[in-house]
Amino acid sequence: MKEIKVYLKPVTLLSIGSGVEEAVGSDIVQIRTRTERGLVPYIPGSSVKGALRSAVSRVARNYGFESCGETLPEYVKARHVEMLKEGKECDVCYVFGQPGPSVSNMGKAVFSPFYPDGEVTVTSITRVRLEDSSLRAHEGALYTAECIVPGQTFSGSIRIIARRNGDVRKTLQLLLLSLASLRTDRIGRSGITDVRIELADDLKALLDSKWRSLASDLEGWFWVDM
Ligand SMILES: [Zn+2]
Repeated sequence: MKEIKVYLKPVTLLSIGSGVEEAVGSDIVQIRTRTERGLVPYIPGSSVKGALRSAVSRVARNYGFESCGETLPEYVKARHVEMLKEGKECDVCYVFGQPGPSVSNMGKAVFSPFYPDGEVTVTSITRVRLEDSSLRAHEGALYTAECIVPGQTFSGSIRIIARRNGDVRKTLQLLLLSLASLRTDRIGRSGITDVRIELADDLKALLDSKWRSLASDLEGWFWVDM
């Protein structure tokens, strides 16, 4: 199986809301799922995918990948048309899929949900609502957000569904770059999350020494325990 085992460890408070609450103007509730242990906070695969996508979009071009650098479907489409004229194809959308309702390009990486490996503590904090564009505080806009307290590891996996070796290699390289970038980027609204992976030998074998050294760097935690 072409799969990367991924462990996520929140370093700061982590808030993964469903998004629905924000639209109706009430408070943010941590997403939970029903398991044998009852209702358990977890990180949906789509949240991890979105965070990795935006983390890697900022750095992809520095490492020789093509990126449209866009997230809104209409801008992505327009930029891709321009890129095609320049003889380029967007590697970020190739791996993470093209945003929008179309199912024609789902991407080459499939994300599992990330479940906690033990008991999770959730706390509520009060925050100031910021205007997204200017990061200025809305007048009087306080809200509470449920957050996951650091201390627990969440585990899940990313499956690579590309077939040819060259395509698997490109997908794997961009995923490794995104996982390394996420360590200093953010997931959810504000959380910094450490990342550690386990990589099967047949996937490692596809990498040259430079990429293999990034992979082995990712096999240990980045942030020291505080
Ligand atoms: Zn793109």
